[in-house]
Amino acid sequence: MYGLGIAKGLTVTLVNLFRKPATVQYPEEALPQSPRFRGEEFVWYEQRCTGCASCAKFCPLGIIKIETHPGGTNVQEGQSFAIDVFDIDIGRCMFCGLCVEACPYDALFMGSGFERGTYRREDLVIPVEELRQAEKRPSTWFRPQLEAKKYSPQTGQPLSWEEVGR
Ligand code: SF4
Ligand code: SF4
Repeated sequence: MYGLGIAKGLTVTLVNLFRKPATVQYPEEALPQSPRFRGEEFVWYEQRCTGCASCAKFCPLGIIKIETHPGGTNVQEGQSFAIDVFDIDIGRCMFCGLCVEACPYDALFMGSGFERGTYRREDLVIPVEELRQAEKRPSTWFRPQLEAKKYSPQTGQPLSWEEVGR
């Protein structure tokens, strides 16, 4: 019948007009994130890090650069290596988390940020100084000890190096 198609089309429009939107007005609003979110900024605890470079070796893209010298004062493993350079080029990172999986000392964690936009690629390298000074809100991804505590990097307090180990 003539006009039936138009009526059907308008019904679809009408139904969708009153549906609850699935999207939000970002950046004014944000969707809730999982505590396991694999964010961009990484959380690194120098006190736990021995400079073993397992994270760098396991990174499929080779974007973690580590330089050490003997005679460090790392608390956990005791006077092994001091870290001179620990840079992560997140401009090439695919956030697979293999570096975090590879860390035997719970020194490296994924972060929870996702807003590090910039105009220059070199600004996407996180240098060791930034990692040292950053607020420590580690993602619970691949860290069951944090999940057991029901920790959330979005709502919880920053954690010290003593609190994040197994
Ligand atoms: S998340 Fe993956 S790509 Fe990014 S630094 Fe770690 S291992 Fe490399
Ligand atoms: S972060 Fe972990 S895997 Fe990487 S150098 Fe330090 S202890 Fe080794």
